[in-house]
Amino acid sequence: MTERSVYIAYTGGTIGMKQLDGSYHPVADYLQTQMVANPLFQHPDLPHYTIHQYQPLLDSSDMAPHDWSTIAADICANYGAYDGFVVLHGTDTMAYTASALAFMLEGLSKPVIVTGSQIPLCELRNDAQENLITSLLLAANSLTVPEVCLYFNGRLLRGCRSVKVNADGFDAFDSPNETPLATVGIELLFNKRLLKDVPHPQQSELKFKAIVQPHVGSLRLFPGISAHVLHNMLQPPLRGLVLETYGAGNAPTHDPALLATLAEAAARGVVIVNCTQCLRGTVNLYKYANGATLAQAGAISGYDMTAEAALTKLAYLLSVCDDADWVRQQMQQNLRGELTLP
Ligand code: ASP
Repeated sequence: MTERSVYIAYTGGTIGMKQLDGSYHPVADYLQTQMVANPLFQHPDLPHYTIHQYQPLLDSSDMAPHDWSTIAADICANYGAYDGFVVLHGTDTMAYTASALAFMLEGLSKPVIVTGSQIPLCELRNDAQENLITSLLLAANSLTVPEVCLYFNGRLLRGCRSVKVNADGFDAFDSPNETPLATVGIELLFNKRLLKDVPHPQQSELKFKAIVQPHVGSLRLFPGISAHVLHNMLQPPLRGLVLETYGAGNAPTHDPALLATLAEAAARGVVIVNCTQCLRGTVNLYKYANGATLAQAGAISGYDMTAEAALTKLAYLLSVCDDADWVRQQMQQNLRGELTLP
C-alpha cells in the first residue's frame, strides 16, 4: 500500500496552547515544537502529515461563521492531494464547527476528523497525544468514514450529532441521540450499521457552499419569558431562529402576545425551528396542545437535532437559498445524518 497522507488544519484550541501568566494562550508554532520533540509523532505507523497553521490561532470561543467557511474552503482546496483531514480545534465551539462543516461539505468521500483536547500537548498529563494520534490514524484509515466526524476520548462521533457535555473531564463530547460511529479500545470497533457508503469518486464530487452572513440565532426558553424579549430577538436582520423548547417541544401558551410575536415573525419569513432543551429525545409537536399551538404559530419541528446542528443547518440553508418555504422543508429532511425522522 502506498503511504497515506493527512492534511492537518490547525485552527487553535487548548491542544497547542501554552500557559502564560497563569492562563492558557494560543501560541504560534508551539504545538509543532512539541510534536517534533515527541518520538511518537515520528512513528512509522503514522500516516505522512502536513500541518497548516491558521493565522491567528484562535481560542474557539472567538470563532464565527466565517471561520467555519475558511476551514471548509481549506479542506476543498487540498481535497485532491490527501487521503483524509484532521481539524485541530478548541473544544468550546467544536460541535458547532463539526456540524457546520458537515453541511457545507456535501458529497465527501474522505474522512474529516475534528479533534482537540482538554489539556495541552505540552503538559505531562494530557489527552492531546491520544486524541491527535488516533485522529491521524482514523483520517488515514482505509476503512474510510466518508463524512465529518468528531473524535474525542476513545469515541468517533458523527460531527453533526455531537455536543460538548463536560467542561472538565476528558469525556467532553457525546452524541446523545446516536451511538458512536466507532469506539477505540484495544481494538478499533466501527459501528458498520451507521457508516455511510464511500461514494465512487467518479459518481460523486465534493460540493462546497460557504455560510455567509447567516443572521441566525438561538433562544433557550425559560419560565417567565416575555413577548418583549422574543420580539426583540426576532427583529430584522434575523432570518432564522432555533427556539430551544421544553421536553417534547413545548412552550408557554397562556400569553397571547408571545404566540402573536412568533406568528408575525414566521409570516414575515423568519424560519423558526423547535428543538428540545433536553439532551436526549425528540420534538413531537403534536404530543401536547402546547406544542401544537407553537406549530400553528409557524414553528417547524427540529426533531432530534442538536441545537448546534439546527443553528448551523439553518445558517447553511439560508446561505444556499432565500426562499423561507424551501428552507423550512429542507430543515425537516435528514441531509447529513443529523436527524431521525419518525
Ligand atoms: N477555550 C478553549 C477553546 O475552545 C477550550 C479548549 O480548546 O478545550 O479553544
